[in-house]
Amino acid sequence: MSVAVAPAAKPEAETPADLAGHLSRQAATLDLFGRLKAARKAVAGRLTFTTSFGIEDQAIGHAILSQDLDIDLVTLDTGRLFPETHDVWAATEARYGRRIRAIVPERAALETLIVAQGSDGFRASIAARQACCHVRKVEPLKIALDGAAGWITGLRADQSEHRADVAFAAHDPARDLIKINPLHDWSRADAVAFTATHGVPVNALHDRGFLSIGCAPCTRAIQPGEPERAGRWWWEQDGKTECGLHANPLHLAARAALTANSKAQAS
Ligand code: SF4
Repeated sequence: MSVAVAPAAKPEAETPADLAGHLSRQAATLDLFGRLKAARKAVAGRLTFTTSFGIEDQAIGHAILSQDLDIDLVTLDTGRLFPETHDVWAATEARYGRRIRAIVPERAALETLIVAQGSDGFRASIAARQACCHVRKVEPLKIALDGAAGWITGLRADQSEHRADVAFAAHDPARDLIKINPLHDWSRADAVAFTATHGVPVNALHDRGFLSIGCAPCTRAIQPGEPERAGRWWWEQDGKTECGLHANPLHLAARAALTANSKAQAS
């Protein structure tokens, strides 16, 4: 008499959150080169690295380009970058022999913004500044990440309070991708030492007190003892030094849960 054999249970597919946890545990034992290789191997689909050519991004760029990893390199060319940023952009392409894809603001949206607020109208209010960042950065980022399975950034947890809980990898529910921060546990000194050891081109402004570098009219040098990101949008007094590109996935998840909860209570 034959005995019926129950079909083997189908293994459950790994969720994005599981994958992020797995990658984060693996990264703890790897150097920067190994971390990027592991991320490339683990995430199926396009991986996009957005670089602003700051020292952290230059370290990551070196690890990607020197290993010839299949990772999309993109920069958001806001139209207001420092000449020194363009210099390091050109030096990077020359050093590694690879073009870095630039995403520029959408023309009609930019013209509408400038008509509405003038050339430097972003200083008038936080809303005006956010409108400028939206057209020049947030919308171009959406284009850069469209269809990407993973997004690599140069965030470090010790850069600011807002970034303190940055992990190696996390599921970004708003963009539905894995966000990978290979320098999450590095200090600035680590990035400086890495770029010096490997002879990586760096932005000349770093030596002039510009630790975090964004658009020219919205970035100033900082004084010794000031927080690293104090030179960004320094005229705003609320202490928030982010432009909307790096909404915290944990905060987004919490917000989504709150919205779902209030909808459930209302129904
Ligand atoms: S950083 Fe300044 S110039 Fe650049 S997009 Fe934001 S507000 Fe506009």
